[in-house]
Amino acid sequence: MSKTAIIGGGFSGLSAACFLAKHGHDVTVFEKNSSLGGRARSFSEQGFMFDMGPSWYWMPDVFEKFFGEFDRRTDDYYSLVQLDPGFQVIFDKDDVLQVPASIDGIYDVFEQIEPGSVVKLKKFLAEGKFKYEVGMQKLVYKPSFSWREFATIEVLASSARLHLFRTMRAHVRSYFKDERLVALMEFPSLFLGATAQNIPALYSLMNYAALSMGTWYPKGGMVEIVIAMEHLASSLKVDIVTGCVVSKIEVDKGEAAKLDTSKGDFFIDGIIATGDYHHMEQNLLDVQHRNYKENYWDKKTFAPSCLIFYVGVSKKIKKLIHHNLFFDASLDVHSSEIYELPQWPANPLFYVCCPSKTDDSVAPDGMENIFILMPVASGLKDTEEIRERYFNLIVSRIEQYCEDTLMQHVVFKKSYCINDFMNDYHAYKGNAYGLANTLRQTAVLKPSMRNKKVKNIFYAGQLTVPGPGVPPAIISGQIAASQLSNYLKRAL
Ligand SMILES: Cc1cc2nc3c(=O)[nH]c(=O)nc-3n(C[C@H](O)[C@H](O)[C@H](O)COP(=O)(O)OP(=O)(O)OC[C@H]3O[C@@H](n4cnc5c(N)ncnc54)[C@H](O)[C@@H]3O)c2cc1C
Repeated sequence: MSKTAIIGGGFSGLSAACFLAKHGHDVTVFEKNSSLGGRARSFSEQGFMFDMGPSWYWMPDVFEKFFGEFDRRTDDYYSLVQLDPGFQVIFDKDDVLQVPASIDGIYDVFEQIEPGSVVKLKKFLAEGKFKYEVGMQKLVYKPSFSWREFATIEVLASSARLHLFRTMRAHVRSYFKDERLVALMEFPSLFLGATAQNIPALYSLMNYAALSMGTWYPKGGMVEIVIAMEHLASSLKVDIVTGCVVSKIEVDKGEAAKLDTSKGDFFIDGIIATGDYHHMEQNLLDVQHRNYKENYWDKKTFAPSCLIFYVGVSKKIKKLIHHNLFFDASLDVHSSEIYELPQWPANPLFYVCCPSKTDDSVAPDGMENIFILMPVASGLKDTEEIRERYFNLIVSRIEQYCEDTLMQHVVFKKSYCINDFMNDYHAYKGNAYGLANTLRQTAVLKPSMRNKKVKNIFYAGQLTVPGPGVPPAIISGQIAASQLSNYLKRAL
């Protein structure tokens, strides 16, 4: 039985651990923080339970497929609720677009806003479905070591329909005219860490995921997925060591042989490094064993970081629903303040999640659990004063929209931003979501999943393939585990 180690206990690390154990290896996960989940950790204070990172449960099939690989189902661990409305986009106090759960309801919304748009929406979603199916079956579960992996007859035959060389912006605008529908259809690009101008229209598969597959919520919070994966890993005899920092990967005779950790040395036959790729290479490996130099990372387009507020409010706020996107400012201006001229935004867009609308267990009776997220460029100067300024600005915009008071009812508040991402996850420039899924950073063009110099080191997580997001992180762990397992079996 080979002795394998996983650095990092986020979704990719937990997924990799479960698959390596399934392949018959002895597995230990080392996680620097005191709890698992990585960017999806949670904390509880004063009767509130806050998910620290992800809040959107999209692509339920990926979670089902993951647990299915172990003859389990998601409902063996947590119960899912489909949100209805799935989410709302606030363009103005009196101009709010709610996205119903049912597809017929969505057709009605489109038709009311832009007469005749239903026919186009049906075509758009049919294309998105095709891309989603090809993507899931033929593209996403590949290690992306070479373009040859994608050169199957089906992929080549359908390449024109995948719209790899058309931008999402051009694609959406060729279908819809009304700016609100355009914003609604472009918004899922933000999940991929990029703007619609910069990602290929292949990713309209995300619109299919968002509109046709529904927006779900695991009762108890997103952390229930982490707990489920931890239980699964434990049932597969994975050892999990939390509060343990890996400080060095020692290489001997061309193979990773030992980890130096804050809890002692650990000898290994193979490793999957799932912490932020830049940190895993630059800080844990000697220079001759790294895939990339420092300037490689400088040239990459990173997904944004974000300023987050976890807020407990001592009353109910009527006009909020579970997911609220405040698009009452210019997305293009805010985007350029992230990607082109990185700076703190003048008039930001932001997102408010209020899970206590769906789940009584996340806030005390009669109170509201509010998570506020504002995307910002990574690498900006992050101070308490700046955070506070945005808190005041954002809360006052929420108050205006809700026509209600909020500030004086805040009973708990904690902020989280660039400095915390660096301290807690060793995140390069404090990024939140890894690398943007631009065309130049897709598949083979992403940081490689394998270490080209040390054969028993593989990487997984949001900085390598397939990309940022919970479903991709789970898939990444699966691919890396099968690559390491194949290598170890060949090396025997
Ligand atoms: C605020 C926020 C909101 C998000 N919202 C959504 C959403 O709604 N839906 C969605 O699908 N996705 C969302 N995402 C993206 C998603 O959460 C991530 O892509 C995913 O969780 C990344 O998982 P990972 O395993 O790649 O990395 P991580 O979660 O970062 O895990 C890596 C782990 O490695 C550990 N580590 C690092 N260095 C070391 C070391 N030297 N020794 C030991 N351990 C180490 C870290 O502590 C960390 O726990 C969001 C992300 C953020 C930050």
